[in-house]
Amino acid sequence: MPDKQLKCCDCGLEFPFTEGEQKFYAEREYSDPKRCKPCRERRKAEKQVKEVNSAPPVAMMEEGMETERHWRGKKGRREH
Ligand SMILES: [Zn+2]
Repeated sequence: MPDKQLKCCDCGLEFPFTEGEQKFYAEREYSDPKRCKPCRERRKAEKQVKEVNSAPPVAMMEEGMETERHWRGKKGRREH
């Protein structure tokens, strides 16, 4: 399977969808990626920022370590 050139829907640049990646996606029945790697990394980073922003309000954090630990535990369970 030759490398494919896909067009990023974010920045509009073409990026290589390599043979290895095609196999990886096919095995997991993923559809072809829509974004180049830098854009995917950027979106991932933005998502992390959003998650940080959706953390409890400052007042709650100020209650101390107990609250923070509790929040982290909750977050961990939600992600699994
Ligand atoms: Zn892009």
